Amino acid sequence: MYDLVCVHCGAVYPPDEIIYNCRSCGHLLAVRYPLGEISIDRKTWDSRPLSVWRYRELLPVRIPPVTLNEGGTPLYHLEKIGKEIGIPGLYAKHEGMNPSGSFKDRGMTVGVSMAMQLGKKSVACASTGNTSASLAVYAARAGIPAVVLLPAGKVALGKVAQALMHGAKVISIRGNFDQALEMVHDLCLSHGLYLLNSINPFRLEGQKTIGFEAIDQLGQVPDRIVLPVGNAGNISAVYKGLRELESLGLIDRLPMMTGVQAAGSQPVVRAIQNNLPEVIPEGNPETVATAIRIGAPVNAEKALTAIRMTGGTALSVTDAEILSMQRDLARLEGIGVEPASAASVAGIRKMAESGLLDRDEKIVCVVTGHLLKDPETVINQCEPPVVVDADISSLLSALQL
Ligand SMILES: *Cc1c(COP(=O)(O)O)cnc(C)c1O
Ligand SMILES: [Zn+2]
Repeated sequence: MYDLVCVHCGAVYPPDEIIYNCRSCGHLLAVRYPLGEISIDRKTWDSRPLSVWRYRELLPVRIPPVTLNEGGTPLYHLEKIGKEIGIPGLYAKHEGMNPSGSFKDRGMTVGVSMAMQLGKKSVACASTGNTSASLAVYAARAGIPAVVLLPAGKVALGKVAQALMHGAKVISIRGNFDQALEMVHDLCLSHGLYLLNSINPFRLEGQKTIGFEAIDQLGQVPDRIVLPVGNAGNISAVYKGLRELESLGLIDRLPMMTGVQAAGSQPVVRAIQNNLPEVIPEGNPETVATAIRIGAPVNAEKALTAIRMTGGTALSVTDAEILSMQRDLARLEGIGVEPASAASVAGIRKMAESGLLDRDEKIVCVVTGHLLKDPETVINQCEPPVVVDADISSLLSALQL
């Protein structure tokens, strides 16, 4: 049986205790498995479909899970973009192909299953959008109510639409994400809702399977895994999972964990580049990539460790670089992602152009969410359709034929 361990002071808590922060030091908790007692043979994993649940021995759920077949997302070779920047081994793992259109589903299938396992009757989160969409979906699947708090006016249209349609109680806060998270945290502690932000240790267990799948699909450990960083839960989760595979002897090296943030919201980048012991929160984060518009990343401590322990790095990209890569992925590769997702590949283009990459590196960029999540940002970049009369000559002249 696993337990919960404080990532800062090492205090240990039982697995069924509902606790998000260490009682002695206030830092976050992580699931720790008795890796010495777990026997996994690769053949068993390989015999199951590629999905979050392929790796169930390294997940905390002991009941039939609340699932919609999440994970098993495609790993695409970015042939054209890779050629252009001189990195032939460039890949994108398209997490937008999950049931609700983002990697958050990997976390929520595990997180909502754990809510059921722990006997919780309702769930809640604060969200820049995708967490709320995913929680609404999985709460519907489980048949329990969900409350989601959003920063008013700063959530992409598709994500709000999902949260509403799947039946969550949606509240818009006149404030930013960081404030919404503080409020929902208080609400959960005082009223017993189960909190499913990335401070929840179980949710991150599901997300770590991105790294497992990437290795299984590539047939080797990539040299580098690149993720957009908001709350820094995902990059921490992937690193934790890979450390577990290493401890189990299933892999013998770790990829360089590389985080990309938007120029207007880059506390993790500043901490890495200035070699600070911890991040200094940013009061007014701003970027078109709303999914990573976060000034006080709650998982920053773990993310700094992940980046530093693997010889990785963190860098920022401008909104213009993000949108330009969103268009290139769409038009050169046929891969439709939301702005935050394009940040990972934009970061790699920037590193390649600055001569910071070895051309032989095998690089997996996690593209985190689907194009249709944020239709407004898409439409704003495109020419509107040409409207013509319903006759052939008007059509031919519009097409300049
Ligand atoms: C949540 C999210 C992120 C950021 O992930 P963190 O774990 O908060 O760092 C990036 N991209 C998309 C599309 C997201 O939904
Ligand atoms: Zn502690």
